[in-house]
Amino acid sequence: MTDTLFAKIIRREIPADIVYEDDEVLAFRDINPQAPVHVLFIPKRPFATLNDLGDDDATLVGKLVVAAVRWAKAQGFAQDGYRVVMNCNRDGGQTVFHIHLHLLAGRALHWPPG
Ligand code: 5GP
Repeated sequence: MTDTLFAKIIRREIPADIVYEDDEVLAFRDINPQAPVHVLFIPKRPFATLNDLGDDDATLVGKLVVAAVRWAKAQGFAQDGYRVVMNCNRDGGQTVFHIHLHLLAGRALHWPPG
């Protein structure tokens, strides 16, 4: 697969405001935040889109979600709430082809999205 901005962030080749890291997951603030808090949780293993995930990857995706939830709770967003979103391909609004989970918090978010 082609190299992406996010692979460069994982390798520390470009800077990012990293808020969480473990063996398999990295999280950093979105450069163009859509809410007061907008963090991207990414697997260190690269998958271009959600379509590239298979049965064997269920645990990894679960870890992404759990890492985001833990972080949101630690930041005090559990009670008021937050949103997690994963976009896929053109119609899903995906622009970076290394899968990522958006965590948005800090304001009331609208539904449905545009
Ligand atoms: P997508 O549209 O693919 O679901 O989300 C990609 C996200 O990556 C966007 O919200 C965009 O603002 C963010 N982004 C793009 N380039 C960079 C970058 O170089 N650094 C950071 N921190 N975020 C980026």
